[in-house]
Amino acid sequence: MNAQPTLLDVPTRRRCDHTCRPPSASHAHCGACHRTFASVSDFDRHRVDGGHGEGRCTHPGGLGLTEHNGLWASPERHANDARLAEQLAAARSMHTATVASVGEGGRG
Ligand SMILES: [Zn+2]
Ligand SMILES: [Zn+2]
Repeated sequence: MNAQPTLLDVPTRRRCDHTCRPPSASHAHCGACHRTFASVSDFDRHRVDGGHGEGRCTHPGGLGLTEHNGLWASPERHANDARLAEQLAAARSMHTATVASVGEGGRG
């Protein structure tokens, strides 16, 4: 068993600033450790009962989450997002190619 104590983060600031990643509708931003999570369930998992009715933050890395562009999510979630981004990019390039081929018409 891993006997290491839970790694708790100490909040260094109380308010959001420009370094905070603005969360989208499905994201969750923590006002204590100022991390942005891909889902509310991931956010919930990084919060623990710190006693005295206060919640505390744990390091998301201890939950198996990874950070990408300021967003904490599971590796599966990141892979899924990357796949969607690829499909979006492919759809855009197809559209561009279609416009280009139309523009080339009428040669001769
Ligand atoms: Zn913040
Ligand atoms: Zn937090």
